[in-house]
Amino acid sequence: MPSVRSTLENVKKQLSSVTDNAHWEAEALLCHLLGWDRLKLFMDGETVLDPDKEKELEQLTSRRGAGEPLQYLLGHAGFMGLDFVVEPGVLIPRSDTELLVETALAELKDAGLKRPSAKIFKVADLGTGSGAIALSIAHYETRAMVCAVDLSAEALSVAAENVMRLGLTRQVALVEADMFEFLERSETASFDMIASNPPYIPTDVIETLQVEVKAHEPRLALDGGPDGLEPYRRLAVLAIRPLIPGGRLILEIGHDQAAAVKQFLLDAGAWEKVECLRDLQGNDRVIT
Ligand code: GLN
Repeated sequence: MPSVRSTLENVKKQLSSVTDNAHWEAEALLCHLLGWDRLKLFMDGETVLDPDKEKELEQLTSRRGAGEPLQYLLGHAGFMGLDFVVEPGVLIPRSDTELLVETALAELKDAGLKRPSAKIFKVADLGTGSGAIALSIAHYETRAMVCAVDLSAEALSVAAENVMRLGLTRQVALVEADMFEFLERSETASFDMIASNPPYIPTDVIETLQVEVKAHEPRLALDGGPDGLEPYRRLAVLAIRPLIPGGRLILEIGHDQAAAVKQFLLDAGAWEKVECLRDLQGNDRVIT
């Protein structure tokens, strides 16, 4: 019967054709299956693998080999140092999106310094999915009250689980709504900040993405219409009224969308300062 260590090597070999991260992913699958951490995997590698576990691992490995994203197989994903439950009905949080959260947190801190009397900040996260953005903001800025909005009831049930697990029920409200209708319905000057990672992939381009994304992640979270810019056209206008004067809009964008999104905001006329920030890869990623 094979040891954990030899099984790890075996899985790694099988995954090397689908991912550059085969070692890390193989470790993650084994840890998940055994309920071990990486240190135990390293230290107790000579342990013999139970045949049932071996079977289960074979199934997970072949699903991963066929292109299912690792995080759906594990059922969770790390983001901003927190652990989020993820299922196929939600987009897997990307590390690039941490820039949006870090920017939002810095802006809230800045607003807090300018208005020390402000006790709470009202924030909306439009298209919340697993809740990664909304809940990270609430976790790291305890004065933030966040409305996490999504059209998908399936996504909101995942977000609800994350709200419970992270103990954020007091700070986060989940709202099932179309993000544009939500803005149209909101009262004037309700929010200090509106954040969103909307769907921004042009419809035709989705088919060219890697199999993990195009065959497994929700279209609703990816498809930004014919040119991928439809959500920004509408948000640039609709986000104005529900924000307080001096309120902030923070948007994730695709690497080649900065100029177009900036133009929508300038055309909308009400935005005081439009800035673009780059992610760690040097790509344009966030517009404020
Ligand atoms: N960044 C995601 C991707 O590359 C897209 C997310 C989105 O459309 N908001 O797949």
